[in-house]
Amino acid sequence: MFNLILFGPPGSGKGTQSQKIIDKYGLKHLSTGDLLRSEIAAETPLGLEAKGFMDRGQLVPDEVVIGMISSALDANPDANGFLFDGFPRTEAQAEALDKLLKLKKTAIHLMLALDVAEPELISRLLNRGKTSGRSDDTNEDVIKARITEYHKKTSAVADYYMKFDKVKHIPGEGTVENIFDSISAEIDKKVK
Ligand code: ADP
Repeated sequence: MFNLILFGPPGSGKGTQSQKIIDKYGLKHLSTGDLLRSEIAAETPLGLEAKGFMDRGQLVPDEVVIGMISSALDANPDANGFLFDGFPRTEAQAEALDKLLKLKKTAIHLMLALDVAEPELISRLLNRGKTSGRSDDTNEDVIKARITEYHKKTSAVADYYMKFDKVKHIPGEGTVENIFDSISAEIDKKVK
């Protein structure tokens, strides 16, 4: 079992790199953003609760996303490992994840943190907004709110895993392939 967190601010390339990681390493991809958007599309009570927060660029309450991740872990008992994308985003979520994994006799093995400068994040997100159909990517105020949430609540999650010596930083600017090579090199050190 190998469990990885792909970490970084909105627009840092987590979704793009996640796809390549799951193809190469056979991990189960758990993206809380994707899970929440599915709930919204299906008009579930959870989706309705989450939508207002997401439209404003705010984090969805911890208990909502923790419950969703707990169900996703239970729904995949045969996974070789998980790739967490967009989760955990607060220290409370990180602590909850550690507990959930411990119950399953496993743990987080590595956090890869994608480093991208802020002007580049904003331009990437506005660009993605032209084609993604994501309303939170078309409005610059909402983008800035998401980046503010990241600095206020999420960046500390890297410090949490740093205490356990689990964090590696990856330069997140360059070609998709070069970034993926750096990611693969770090994963290979852990899985071999
Ligand atoms: P991005 O990383 O580009 O912001 P995501 O798809 O990961 O995109 O997240 C979109 C939105 O979903 C966030 O702005 C937030 O409202 C909500 N969200 C996703 N993951 C979490 C989480 N772990 N905790 C709280 N809210 C979340």
